[in-house]
Amino acid sequence: MLYSVKMRSAQGGAHEEGGRHISGAERILPEEQLDYAVLTMLHRAREHERGRADFISLKVEEIKPQEIVYKPLLSFSTCPVKTAQEGHRAAVAELERAGVKPKAALKGLEMLENLHDSMRGAIVVDCESGMRIDGMGERGVRASKMDCVNSRGYDEYMQARGLTGDHVREALVLASKVAGAEGMVAELCWSDDPYYVTGYVASPLYGYRRIPVMKERGSGIGGRVFFVRPGTDMQKLINYLEEQVVMIQTGEVLTC
Ligand code: AMP
Repeated sequence: MLYSVKMRSAQGGAHEEGGRHISGAERILPEEQLDYAVLTMLHRAREHERGRADFISLKVEEIKPQEIVYKPLLSFSTCPVKTAQEGHRAAVAELERAGVKPKAALKGLEMLENLHDSMRGAIVVDCESGMRIDGMGERGVRASKMDCVNSRGYDEYMQARGLTGDHVREALVLASKVAGAEGMVAELCWSDDPYYVTGYVASPLYGYRRIPVMKERGSGIGGRVFFVRPGTDMQKLINYLEEQVVMIQTGEVLTC
């Protein structure tokens, strides 16, 4: 049996009482790995570089096998950039290559650049008009209920490619779920962790394109934009992203 473990933490009280979001994490794991996962999340909430949380919520739920959908892991590659400015240019080029109209790519990028603080979720944007269409306000849409089929195998897969750390580990799984949504064209992301300046553009067509520099060091603001085709059913999309349990598997060693 698998379990979903979710953590969210805030400073100045709970999120719903106006607390400032500090960190969040989520895993889907077999029972024997639960204790370790919960401890790791507690540690993460209390030691985060965005600040010390005074509210931590932990939720554990059983997942039934028939609720699970399987999706492939995106391929992985890196764009050679050295500055945030180059990173933003590369991101726009990658978005356009994936099918986002130039005007919409720039609008999405500006939405992230103009954030005053990080949101908990993502902004959903029409890939042609560049209009925000999720109607979810400051919270945004949260991709949730995803993990990789075989965590240890996945870690080995990442390490073999020189990719270590929670950020890229979690981002690649999240991006793989997001890319599997109906109507999804591309995703743009950079982290809100002040000392993690890397971001990415991911798409069903070109996979996960890591962009080593997307912001200046020390900035605690990050975000995500999901670009979707015009006419995408938003209710269906939000339901898939937030509620559908998705396990990610690679075609290689990881299938189990
Ligand atoms: P992170 O990569 O965790 O530093 O997150 C960067 C930004 O992406 C956050 O500030 C949020 O705006 C957004 N974000 C984080 N987690 C999620 C998620 N599960 N679903 C959608 N957006 C997210």
